[in-house]
Amino acid sequence: MDYGFTEEQLMIRDLARQIAQEKIKPVRQHYDETGEFPHDIFKVFAGADLCGLYIEEQYGGMGGGIVELVIAVEEFSKVCSGIALSLAATALGTFPIILHGSDEQKKKYLPRIASGQSLAAFGLTEAEAGSDASGIKTTAVKDGDHYILNGTKQWITNGGEADIYVVIAMTDKKKGPRGASAIIVEKGTPGFTFGKKENKMGIRASATRELVFQDCRVPKANLMGREGMGFIVAMKTLDQSRPGVAAQALGIAAGALEEAVQYSRQRRQFGSPICSFQGVQFMLADMATQVEAARTLVYQAARYIDSGAKDIGKISAMCKLFASDTAMRVTTDAVQVFGGYGYMKEYPVEKMMRDAKITQIYEGTNQIQREVIGLSLIKEAASGK
Ligand SMILES: Cc1cc2nc3c(=O)[nH]c(=O)nc-3n(C[C@H](O)[C@H](O)[C@H](O)COP(=O)(O)OP(=O)(O)OC[C@H]3O[C@@H](n4cnc5c(N)ncnc54)[C@H](O)[C@@H]3O)c2cc1C
Repeated sequence: MDYGFTEEQLMIRDLARQIAQEKIKPVRQHYDETGEFPHDIFKVFAGADLCGLYIEEQYGGMGGGIVELVIAVEEFSKVCSGIALSLAATALGTFPIILHGSDEQKKKYLPRIASGQSLAAFGLTEAEAGSDASGIKTTAVKDGDHYILNGTKQWITNGGEADIYVVIAMTDKKKGPRGASAIIVEKGTPGFTFGKKENKMGIRASATRELVFQDCRVPKANLMGREGMGFIVAMKTLDQSRPGVAAQALGIAAGALEEAVQYSRQRRQFGSPICSFQGVQFMLADMATQVEAARTLVYQAARYIDSGAKDIGKISAMCKLFASDTAMRVTTDAVQVFGGYGYMKEYPVEKMMRDAKITQIYEGTNQIQREVIGLSLIKEAASGK
């Protein structure tokens, strides 16, 4: 299929595909089994200049956008979405700086991220505040030229591995959601520590940890935008980053489809390859159709965001919702095509099915995506659009 990519985008796709096959595929099982963080593969991403795909050239990036990011994330996720997440979650932690950072903050942090020297992370969720982010309790109290942070963020991707964290904390509890602010906290700041690494169902190569702040003093210069803008920063960041989760889901689904097609040609029952049975062909046909529909929506959303459009919330939520539901369905069917072998860890579709589940949960559950889409529809109708 021709997806209308530029020459440069095709080069990114081919390079990412090659890295996925040559560097990630041989080690994905190791990282899944051990849950170690894939430092060696992240160095490969950096060496191939892929860490700054979506960062402006003046800050050392490649000057691309969401399209370039989703192309790379899809290719890596076809083989291992846990490893791909080191890059995608760094983008999640970088978008607030791109969108709302001051010139000084951009100059200080973006070149480090673009070169792959530093990973980034985004800390919003807390134990009592998941879908309802307005319930966060972490505080940032002004003290002269500093903020003093106290509280704990839960399940933060790249936690402990990243050097740069964008944290949403309450600077004025009395104002409710309008009293939250976004603050950059660097690893190594006194009073900033990490909880234990979580033991997860899937994306096991990804590090998920608590961020713990105990009287952590952060320079006032690390505030992003103005006080009170925390939830605006968070929501705008998620609008940009959800196509990255969708690309991860798309890659998982496409990878599982490829595996299922190959297996169905090799496995023989009743004297014939199982791909000769219409029951199996119909499953593969449905899987392929869903993957293609997800791909079209993901690329369309990425292009719309890169066009500079402002009303990106609905399409961003739609692509995340559709691609992640597709990933769950397609990986479940891929296991079915493999039969009992699909249930065994020796075959990659078992891991893909475990990896798919998280894409329906993080960066807003799919129930929340449906709410975002539904509210947009009602708003559009009310404004006569
Ligand atoms: C592996 C992993 C990595 C993560 N990485 C990050 C990260 O890097 N940064 C970060 O800030 N967070 C991160 N998260 C947190 C993630 O975004 C949250 O888990 C997610 O937003 C859901 O919150 P919750 O788990 O508290 O579920 P809850 O909000 O408790 O939801 C439980 C159930 O209720 C449903 N529900 C809740 N409210 C509604 C509603 N209004 N209408 C309908 N249904 C509703 C949900 O859809 C869900 O099915 C991560 C989580 C995991 C598991």
